[in-house]
Amino acid sequence: MTEHEDILGKIVSLAKRRGFIFQGSEIYGGLAGVYDYGPLGVELRHNIKQHFWDTFIAMRDDVYGMSAAILMPARVWEASGHTELFTDPLVECKICHERVRADQPEAIHDHESRHAKDKKQVSWSDPSVFNLLVGTKLGSSEKTATPVYLRGEITQGVHVNFKNVLDSMHPKLPFGIGQIGKAFRNEITPRDFLFRQREFEQMELQYYIRPDEEEGKRQFEYWKQFSLDWFLGLGFSKENIRLRAHEPDERAHYAKDAWDIEYKTPFAGWKEAWGIHHRGDWDLRRHSEFSGVDLSYTDNETGEKIIPWDIECSGGVDRAVLFVLLESYTEDELGGEKRVYLKLKPKLAPIKAAVFPLLKNKPGLVAKAESVYHDLKKQIPQVAFDDNGNIGKRYRRQDEIGTPFCVTIDFETLENDTATIRERDSGKQERIAVSELAGFIQKKIM
Ligand code: ATP
Repeated sequence: MTEHEDILGKIVSLAKRRGFIFQGSEIYGGLAGVYDYGPLGVELRHNIKQHFWDTFIAMRDDVYGMSAAILMPARVWEASGHTELFTDPLVECKICHERVRADQPEAIHDHESRHAKDKKQVSWSDPSVFNLLVGTKLGSSEKTATPVYLRGEITQGVHVNFKNVLDSMHPKLPFGIGQIGKAFRNEITPRDFLFRQREFEQMELQYYIRPDEEEGKRQFEYWKQFSLDWFLGLGFSKENIRLRAHEPDERAHYAKDAWDIEYKTPFAGWKEAWGIHHRGDWDLRRHSEFSGVDLSYTDNETGEKIIPWDIECSGGVDRAVLFVLLESYTEDELGGEKRVYLKLKPKLAPIKAAVFPLLKNKPGLVAKAESVYHDLKKQIPQVAFDDNGNIGKRYRRQDEIGTPFCVTIDFETLENDTATIRERDSGKQERIAVSELAGFIQKKIM
């Protein structure tokens, strides 16, 4: 394995060691394709979701937020086509009978290499299809229980509420509905850490427009660019992010156009992070047919009834977390010493600043540092206190989790109420008044 490819291994180990992400139910042997977020990971993920929520929903006049339930009746998935079409082609290894995705050359290659170690050559069965929906039952007895599905995508929760939002908020076209939430897929080969999981989170916007080809093209271009700009705002360099058009045979049969935003991963090249899909009137029309409820939109001025078209922006929260970690992982040398740090944008960092007393055994310094820490925490909750080990070690610990600023309280602080503030990437320090600390940090974490 090259050093480049092993960055994923280093991220997995850092994520566990420093409390970002753990294997799901690890003490029971772990559950494949399921991960738990620890104290720092949950903050990072929250910051990414907040950035999505603000940009795609809260800061716009034409988009509403919502949060639909995870459990939905089977009929929803018949309408959306998932019962029939949400399938992966699988092939079975004739040696060990494990099933692998036929459309994932890496998975096939990994499997063949495993057997090659024992000098065996794999032969594969013909592909068969496998549905990805995760089902369960609700009800008091086995016999009367109703089958339901954990949603395979969050999209349908918005479409089934289209009429509720119309009737309660009275929006005019074009308008959007966005949400963030969990989705579940019975992925046969979960792999590459957070990249392909069985339980994951999505952030999406469904943007409803007039059914008009020109308007469709214009809105599609707008949301493509909007999504790309948002993604770049997470701190990616332009060389590592690209927009790619789906080939016609990659698209869903109803899709008028489909593009992906891809990230150049060190472990498997360009991989999908986000999709922009022109879904036409597929979803609203199908849910009208299957539910028997009219999901058309009536133009107040003309009285005209139409089924709007939908331009969808759909991203994986966990893939964004993974790609942000990969992008920000940096090894360098500072002051003649090797260090590892996460070059996170300050607004994404789980901890914004750490406060240290220069020496642990000087009560005056410790008391002042504690008081600065408590004052700062009232204004910026994501602030930490650390008095363990020497200052150099504390800096390294904060660098490794991406904390952008470290504040040190020293003897001069006791004299003139100034402290040093050190910037993570450059290691540069400046002295500022304690009363200006919160304002200084606030400005940088916006
Ligand atoms: P892929 O081709 O990688 O399976 P997809 O085209 O099925 O992805 P969509 O159904 O368009 O994905 O879902 C939208 C977004 O949800 C994807 O861009 C991705 O970021 C995220 N996503 C999809 N499947 C998974 C998964 N198994 N684990 C983590 N994130 C996922």
